[in-house]
Amino acid sequence: MDCIFCKISKHQVSSDIVVEDSEVIVFKDIQPKAETHWLIVPKKHIHSVSAVELGDWPLVISIIKKAAEAAKENNISGYKLVFNVGREGGQIVDHLHLHLLAGKKIDLP
Ligand code: AMP
Ligand code: ZN
Repeated sequence: MDCIFCKISKHQVSSDIVVEDSEVIVFKDIQPKAETHWLIVPKKHIHSVSAVELGDWPLVISIIKKAAEAAKENNISGYKLVFNVGREGGQIVDHLHLHLLAGKKIDLP
């Protein structure tokens, strides 16, 4: 499958990694919409929030938890978390991801 976030998760494509573990990778967005703009991505390929199957909901909790932990570790106290869902919702990459945006001026992605 030709999925950029799968390739980043497997380190086949380089990215600016903030933190990762066996399930989740956090890397900097290549076209930042805020002073801090990270993507929190499960390593398992899931299309979108709208395509999460019953057994995968804990992974959605994991990425929200990872976002909160990574923010805390980097002394970021205020931020927005955004899921874009579907083309009309602004989703361009069809691999589930959570945006973390922080800083003075935040344009929603
Ligand atoms: P979305 O519009 O919610 O699908 O967001 C996809 C995000 O992925 C966009 O903000 C892009 O800038 C970002 N993006 C796409 N390719 C890369 C990449 N290779 N490395 C980092 N971020 C990327
Ligand atoms: Zn993928």
